[in-house]
Amino acid sequence: MRTADLLVIGGGPGGYETAAAAAARGEKVILFERDRLGGTCLNRGCIPTKCLCASAKLLDDIRHASALGISTSGTTVDFTAIKQRISEVTDTLRQDIAGALGDVEIVNAEATIGPGPSVVAAAETYTAPSIIIATGSAPAHLRIPGAETALDSDAVLALDAVPESMVIIGGGVIGLEFASVLNSFGCNITVLEYCKEILPGFDRDIAKRLRGYLSRKGIDIVTGAEVTAIENGCRVTYLCKGKEKQVEAATILTAVGRRPVLPSGLENAGVSLNARGFIDTDSEFRAAPGIYAIGDVNGRCMLAHAASAQGRVVLGHDVRLDIMPGVVFSNPECAMVGITEETATASGRECIAVKVPYGANGKAIASGESDGLLKLIVNKGDGTIAGCHCVGEHAADIVAEATIAMNSSMSVGTLAHGTVHAHPTLSELLATAATAAAARL
Ligand code: NAD
Repeated sequence: MRTADLLVIGGGPGGYETAAAAAARGEKVILFERDRLGGTCLNRGCIPTKCLCASAKLLDDIRHASALGISTSGTTVDFTAIKQRISEVTDTLRQDIAGALGDVEIVNAEATIGPGPSVVAAAETYTAPSIIIATGSAPAHLRIPGAETALDSDAVLALDAVPESMVIIGGGVIGLEFASVLNSFGCNITVLEYCKEILPGFDRDIAKRLRGYLSRKGIDIVTGAEVTAIENGCRVTYLCKGKEKQVEAATILTAVGRRPVLPSGLENAGVSLNARGFIDTDSEFRAAPGIYAIGDVNGRCMLAHAASAQGRVVLGHDVRLDIMPGVVFSNPECAMVGITEETATASGRECIAVKVPYGANGKAIASGESDGLLKLIVNKGDGTIAGCHCVGEHAADIVAEATIAMNSSMSVGTLAHGTVHAHPTLSELLATAATAAAARL
C-alpha cells in the first residue's frame, strides 16, 4: 500500500494542472495516466485542431491577400507537413507538461477505484485523503442505423489526407471548427444541425452572423435537420421541414456531443452518476467522501479551462465559475462569456443589449477584417456586464477583457470612461459598446 496527500486519475488539463498546483504547495501527489500526458486537449482536441486552424487561417489570408495589395500564386497545401507540425507542437507541449509536473509521481497505468476509497493501478494500491477523478470524455455516437460507419472527431484528426467532401452531423463547436478548417483546405462541406440555429447556447445574433460568414465561404449549412440514418459512411438521410432528404459525401463526421470516460470501481467509493451518465458532484466537485470529479467527466462544462478551474476550486481557491469564457475557433472566430440576450429575456433580468459591428472599428477596417459583431449585455441596475458575445477577428481576446471586467464587477461607465484603450485596436470595440451602454443606463 502506497500513501500520498493527493491521487489524481487522468493527465488532461484538469488532472495535470491540479496535480502540479498541489505539488507546488508541497503536497505529495501521484498522477495516474494510462495513455500520454495531455488528455483530449493536447492529443485529440484543442491543440491539434488549433494547429489545423492556424494553417487554414493562413491559407484564407493568402486567398484574400490581393485585397491588401499583395499578389500571390502557386499556393499549395502540404497536409503531410501540417500533420508533422501537429506532432512537433504536441510533443513540445507534452514535454512542457512533464516539466511542470516536476515533483508529481506519474504512474503510467490504468487506474481503478478500490475500496477505502483507494486507487489500484499496476497491481499496487494507493491511498490518500483526497482522490480526484479527471478522466475526461470521448466522442458520443448517434443511436441511428449506420452511425458506426461515420467518423468521429478522433478519426478525422487521424486522417492523412483532406477528404474531397464531408457531411458533418452537428453544428456545435466541434462540427463548426472542422467545417471551417476543412473547407479552407478544399473539402466540400455540408453541416446538418438539428436545432433552428447553429451553436445552441451561443447568442442567436452571433450564431446567425457566423452562419452567414461560413455560408459565404461555401459551407452548406442546413438547420432544423434531424439525421435519421447513415449508409456506408457516405450517405446521410435526414428530416427537414417534414420532408425526408439525403446528402452524400466521401466522408461523414458525427460531432453530436461527448460522453464521460469513467474509471472502473466507482461503486466501491459510493460515486453515483446523474441522468446523463456523468459523475454527480456537489458545487465543490465532491462525488463522495474523499473523492472529487473535475472536468468533462462531471459533464458540467466541457471545456479544458473549465476542468482546470474546477481543479482550483478543489484546491480551495475562490473561482468565478459562472464567468466562463467559451470560444469556437472557426474563421472568423466566435467567443462568449456570461449570459446571452435570450437568457436575460427569458429570466426576466433587466438588461440592455448593445451591438457594435467590426465595420465601426478603425483597426478592423485597416486590417481588412471588418466582418464581425460585438454584443454586450449589461445589467441595468449597476451597469456591470452580464454577457459579452463576439464573432470576428480576435473575438476570444475581446471576450477575455470582458471576462476580467465581469470578474471585477467593473461597470460599463468605468470601462468606457475610466479605462484607456490603445488606438487603433480591436479592444476599442469593447470601449465603444461600453460607451453606448453607459449612455443608456
Ligand atoms: P455540442 O453539444 O457543442 O454540439 C453538438 C451539436 O449536434 C448540437 O448543436 C446538436 O443540436 C447537434 N445534434 C445532435 N444530434 C443531432 C442530429 N441527430 N442531427 C443533427 N444535429 C444533431 O457538441 P460537440 O460539438 O460534439 O462538442 C462536444 C463538447 O466539446 C462541447 O461541450 C464543446 O463545448 C466541447 N468542445 C469545446 C471546444 C472549444 O472550446 N473550442 C472545442 C471542441 C469541443
